[in-house]
Amino acid sequence: MIERMVIFGASGDLTSRLLMPAVAQLTEAGLLSPGLRIVGCASTDRSTEDFCAHIAAELKEHAAVPAATRDAVVRMLSYQSADVTSAEDVRRVIGEDHPDTLVYLALPPFLLPSALSALATTGLRTSDALAIEKPFGSDLTSARQLNEILRLQLPEPTIFRIDHFLSNELIHRVIALRFLNRIFEPIWNAMHVERVDISWLETLTLEGRARYYDGAGALKDMVQNHLMEVMTLVLMETPARLDADSFRSVRVEALRSVATPLPERIRSTSVRARYTAGRIGSRQVPSYVDEPGVDPSRNTETYASLTVEVNHPRWAGVPFTLRSGKAQPVPSAEIALHFRPLPRYVLDRWPGVEPNVLRLGLKEPYVRLGTTLNGPERTTQSCQLEACSTPPQFPAYAHLILQMLNNQPMLFIRGDEVEEAWRIVDPVMKAWSGGNVPLQEYAAGTAPPGPAR
Ligand code: NAP
Repeated sequence: MIERMVIFGASGDLTSRLLMPAVAQLTEAGLLSPGLRIVGCASTDRSTEDFCAHIAAELKEHAAVPAATRDAVVRMLSYQSADVTSAEDVRRVIGEDHPDTLVYLALPPFLLPSALSALATTGLRTSDALAIEKPFGSDLTSARQLNEILRLQLPEPTIFRIDHFLSNELIHRVIALRFLNRIFEPIWNAMHVERVDISWLETLTLEGRARYYDGAGALKDMVQNHLMEVMTLVLMETPARLDADSFRSVRVEALRSVATPLPERIRSTSVRARYTAGRIGSRQVPSYVDEPGVDPSRNTETYASLTVEVNHPRWAGVPFTLRSGKAQPVPSAEIALHFRPLPRYVLDRWPGVEPNVLRLGLKEPYVRLGTTLNGPERTTQSCQLEACSTPPQFPAYAHLILQMLNNQPMLFIRGDEVEEAWRIVDPVMKAWSGGNVPLQEYAAGTAPPGPAR
């Protein structure tokens, strides 16, 4: 197990709210090496004492662990100021004859190319690990450029491109449902499934994140990465071997089978929309364009829906719709496999029976399936598979830190995988920025325009 972690960007929001609380939870569970040391770096000059006091306060707020565990985490810490774009600074922090190290880049995305170039001079080894946060590039060209820099530096298995969705326990359960339960495999195909919807709809609005979100929008924030990865878990074939590379290869193959959206069809297969003022429950919400920090001329969407076709015999003719939106009336985060209707003669007897929908919760632990009969009238009622509904034990970041410290890249994004995801989304971004798909509006707290089908 790697025993040193260097975080560039250690005074930022990600480190405070997600990384250090995850380290605390792993410490509490006794899953980390007692020898683990964490070096925090950022460009601002500050002392280790000051940094430790800052992290202690953040842990108090964000980590539900006893005080003794918080103290144990703080004892792992030290701080060095360094400009991550300076090769000299980065070499000083990493050290020449360094112990195996997890280098975690928790930096604003614009710094990534220069940080990688600086890191290239440090002599990272195959026993080290390099963690790179999302977003990985802002389009296909920039993602390819980042991959080029990385290829010169480290072998692929030591590069951990993070999509924390893949380490989310509930999303991981899709893998278990499919591959550890024989009953689903025979129906997991176009013969039985009519369409698949993958949704991440939240009642949250901008919540002060204009600096990041207004430059990204729903398509780049959620669809290009997280929802695309969830889709690969639905699409993928069974890996021939259960090692990391085989598993990552079938994910890439799954993405390769998704047809590149045709420019002339993007208007009918995608929806972009932005919320206006409205009410969500009892909360009055201002229009997106009136939120502090938003530049209305950017035309950033707060709802994105994209329907793709799959060129694979298993899924031929089954549309996959990925959609994500803010300021929705009710939260809904799930994969929904909509099955084909029952035969006509059965529907004649029970006309109210809806086609089965297998719903897998991505935020709440549930697996909802189908229909049963109840009471003397034998009325139909939808039912749940309760057994799959235990809550997750750890947050995604605890899983991914543990996997990286153990050099296990299975649930991280390979270079070709991220390029495939951009290959699918790039034409949509171009069509949207070229004005080929109108930006629609929906009042906060109301349903957005219908999904593209
Ligand atoms: P942030 O709050 O803006 O923090 C940026 C960090 O980078 C600060 O510690 C800053 O400290 C440091 N930094 C800036 N310039 C530097 C330089 N030249 N050399 C060394 N350090 C420098 O950003 P964040 O929200 O933590 O996000 C970091 C990454 O995580 C981003 O890629 C983001 O997309 C990803 N992410 C964030 C979240 C989240 O919830 N925050 C969730 C998922 C993914 P100084 O100013 O002192 O240098």
